Amino acid sequence: MKYEQNIPFYIHKFKDFPWKVYESEHYIFHVGEKSLAESDIDVIKTRQESAYAKIIEKLELAPPGKKIIYYFYSSQKEKAKLMGDGWYGQTICNEFTVHAVYNEKDKVVGEHEDTHLLSLQMGLSIGLFEEGLAEFMVGKSMFGNNHNDVIRSGLKKGLSVDIKNLMSQQGWLDTPDEEAEFYYSVAGSFVAYIYGNLGLDILKKIYSVMDRGSTREENIKILESVIGQNISELEASWRTSIN
Ligand SMILES: [Zn+2]
Repeated sequence: MKYEQNIPFYIHKFKDFPWKVYESEHYIFHVGEKSLAESDIDVIKTRQESAYAKIIEKLELAPPGKKIIYYFYSSQKEKAKLMGDGWYGQTICNEFTVHAVYNEKDKVVGEHEDTHLLSLQMGLSIGLFEEGLAEFMVGKSMFGNNHNDVIRSGLKKGLSVDIKNLMSQQGWLDTPDEEAEFYYSVAGSFVAYIYGNLGLDILKKIYSVMDRGSTREENIKILESVIGQNISELEASWRTSIN
């Protein structure tokens, strides 16, 4: 299975880097010699193995039969130089790999990126559900805040959200990067709401039938047929749950 990810920046210079390699039951970790990631490697192993167990159990997923491969960079700059982009964490689906920043300030560990890889057995959903599922598994925002708190304060300062606009891949990509915490929290909260109110089976069904190649109208139609109600009703009851 090949996944169509939009990652034109991706380069493989990291392959030439003199990594030190550590393994645990479900992971292979690449760290720089004498880096913070290397000195924290036992903590990282424990953290990721517990994330792995939580994701597989809560989402009732099949173990993938191969290890998740991590590359830890000591700065955003080093990451940009070696893999082409300086964003904190990225999953490369076809290589079953995570590229992540790990230093005193930013430690990209935990459930988020691993959820992207372990959920591939359900397909590659649209951003709203892909990021939403990962945020739901983490249980808090990228800066450690409660998702619904982030949404409430975002709405207060004038941000707005219409779930229908996020029902295509382009709609998700059009959300502004500088408000990532808000939109990721919306996605996480929305997925948590579906899980809590419609159940895991419906959530997984929605996840797998949303299509990156489809328009917002097509995805809405499919979602409505899965949940048996209008998307506006679902959105309204989700909004009520936030307040
Ligand atoms: Zn993500």
